[in-house]
Amino acid sequence: MKVAPEIQKKLIDLSFLDNEIAALNLKIQNHPIKARFLELQNRVPGIEATKVENMSNIEEIKKQINKIELDADNIKKRIENDTKRLNSSETNPKQLTQIQHEIETMNLKLSEIENKELEQLSQLEEMLDKQKNLEVILDQINHDLKLQKDNLNKDLLEIENNLLDLNKSRTELITVFIPELIKLYEKIKQDHGIGAGILDKNKCGACQITISPAEFEQIKKTDPSEILRCENCRCILVRI
Ligand SMILES: [Zn+2]
Repeated sequence: MKVAPEIQKKLIDLSFLDNEIAALNLKIQNHPIKARFLELQNRVPGIEATKVENMSNIEEIKKQINKIELDADNIKKRIENDTKRLNSSETNPKQLTQIQHEIETMNLKLSEIENKELEQLSQLEEMLDKQKNLEVILDQINHDLKLQKDNLNKDLLEIENNLLDLNKSRTELITVFIPELIKLYEKIKQDHGIGAGILDKNKCGACQITISPAEFEQIKKTDPSEILRCENCRCILVRI
């Protein structure tokens, strides 16, 4: 294929644009904020689940405390009634001993229940603190997520605008090439990553390999309009 040298040189501009486009597409794909965003987002379900579990424990312990309080109230009423009977003139001595014993037993039971209630109340307090902490952590994560999302969107918008400009320049640039050359360039780019490189002295600008003196001599003798290919990376070698 023969292409005027000044048109061949424009392949280097095209290659430069394509490298920039590829780099920006890669940046969109592997944007560091995306990883940070996902890492934060992945923490949310675990914290939500712990919050639900802790809330269920809070409800359960509140029920237990209510039950303990009811039991304590009942015992207190029984102690009150027994104390009235104890102080009544109608109670005989045998009953008195029995009532005193009952009051002692119930006081012991009451003290046991009240200790249990204190323990449960302390556990409840810990659970409520835990719930508050979980909410603070979730709020912080949601705040960070929003911040990261805003930053990411801002960055992506900027990259996409750059891509639009680059693609516009590319569309304009490729009109100077014959379709056959573009087809060849695209095929090489697809297979080897780079479509064209500068022949810099005796070195391929795409793969940096040094061309043998014999081959270089051959190149120098070749018609400048002839399309050359690098033996190593297969890209189009553009003489400047
Ligand atoms: Zn090469």
